Amino acid sequence: MSMRPTRRQSIPVRIGSVTVGGPAPVVVQSMTNTDTADIESTTQQIKALARAGSELVRVTVNTDEAAAAVPHVRDRLARMGIHVPIVGDFHFNGHKLLKAHPACAEALAKYRINPGNVGRGSKRDPQFAEMIEVAIRNDKPVRIGVNWGSLDQDLLTRLMDENSKSADPMDARDVTREALVVSALESAKRAEELGLGSDHIVISCKVSGVQDLISVYRNLAKRCDYALHLGLTEAGMGSKGIVASTAGMAVLLQEGIGDTIRVSLTPEPNGDRTTEVIVAQEILQTMGLRSFMPMVVACPGCGRTTSTYFQELAQKIQSHIRHQMPEWRKQFVGVEDMTVAVMGCVVNGPGESKHANIGISLPGTGERPVAPVYVDGEKGPTLKGEHIAEEFQSLVEEYIAKTYARRETA
Ligand code: SF4
Repeated sequence: MSMRPTRRQSIPVRIGSVTVGGPAPVVVQSMTNTDTADIESTTQQIKALARAGSELVRVTVNTDEAAAAVPHVRDRLARMGIHVPIVGDFHFNGHKLLKAHPACAEALAKYRINPGNVGRGSKRDPQFAEMIEVAIRNDKPVRIGVNWGSLDQDLLTRLMDENSKSADPMDARDVTREALVVSALESAKRAEELGLGSDHIVISCKVSGVQDLISVYRNLAKRCDYALHLGLTEAGMGSKGIVASTAGMAVLLQEGIGDTIRVSLTPEPNGDRTTEVIVAQEILQTMGLRSFMPMVVACPGCGRTTSTYFQELAQKIQSHIRHQMPEWRKQFVGVEDMTVAVMGCVVNGPGESKHANIGISLPGTGERPVAPVYVDGEKGPTLKGEHIAEEFQSLVEEYIAKTYARRETA
C-alpha cells in the first residue's frame, strides 16, 4: 500500500524541456552564486548543478553585462550536451534588461519577477506590464516570486489600514502573511489580464520561518491552482538550513502542496554549491516522492561498534554509489530505487539487510570478524579479511548488473 500523498491539482507549466505542476513529479531546482557576467564560472557552476541533478537552474540577471552573458552561457552548456533550462532572476531593472537584451529574453526558459521589486509607486504597474509583455512575446513562463524581505510596501500598508478598521483585527504577522499571498495572487491576475496564460505562471511566497511558510502555502494552495514553487528563503548554513528547509517543506509536500522545490542553503566559504541539490533530492526521496539515487540505510552505531571501521565503510559505500550513479543511471533502468544496508553488528544488521536489496552486517565489538551479506532477503556470501569494503562494492556492482535491465543505447 502506497503512503504517497495525493498531490494538489495545479496547472502544468512547461519550462523549456521540464514540466512543473499538474501530474509531473516535483522538480528540483537550484540557483548559481557566480557573477552571471562571468561566462566561464557561471557555465561551470550550472554544469555542476545540472550534473548533480538540478532540473532547472536560476541565475541572477542584474546588469547589462549579466544579460549579455546569458545566451553565451546557454550556448556553451549546449555544446557540452547540457540542456538544463536556465531561469533569469530579475529585480528593479528587469523590464529594461529584458527589452534591451532580446537574446537574453530568448535564451532564458523562465523569468522570475518579484512584485515587490519591479518599481515603486506609479512605475510599478507599467514596469511589471513590460516584463509580462516580453514573456508573452517570447512565449516564456514567469514565476511571480514574492519574498518576505521585499514585500510590496504599498500593499502591506493598504492591508494594515484595512485591518485596523476591521471589527476583529488580525495580528500584524497574520496581516503580513496575508499580504504575501495577496501580492502573489493580484500580480498573477494582472499578468493574466495582460494576456499571459495561467499555464505560464508559477507562484512562490518565500519566507524565512517554518511556521510562516506552512501557513502561507496552505493559504495559497486553497486560493489558486497555479503551480507552486516551494522553498524557505534565507534558510541558513549547515544543519540549521537543512533542518529548517526540510521541516517546512516536508509538511507541505505531505499535504500534496508544492510542484518544484529549492533548498536555499548558505554555502560554507568555498563550499560546494551542489549540496542544495542533493538535499532537495534527499527530501523528495526519503519522503517516497521520487527516486534519484540508491539509498544507503546505515545504523547510527553504538557501544557495540567501537572502531571507526563501520563509519568508514558506510561512507565508502555512499561515496561509491554517488560517484557511480551517473554511469549506472545511463546503463540500468530503475537502479535509483535500490536500497543498500550497511549495519554495525548482528543485533539489527541481518534484519535490516533482509529488507534492503543488498545489505551487510559488520562484526561488532567481540563478535566473530565476519560480515554476512544478504541479497534480496536471502543469506549470501560472508566476507572477511582486509578487503571487505572493496568486495562488498563488487557485490553491489554484480547485483545491479544482474537485477536491473540494461537501457537500450541509441
Ligand atoms: S545495529 Fe548494532 S551497532 Fe548498529 S546501532 Fe544497532 S546494536 Fe548498535
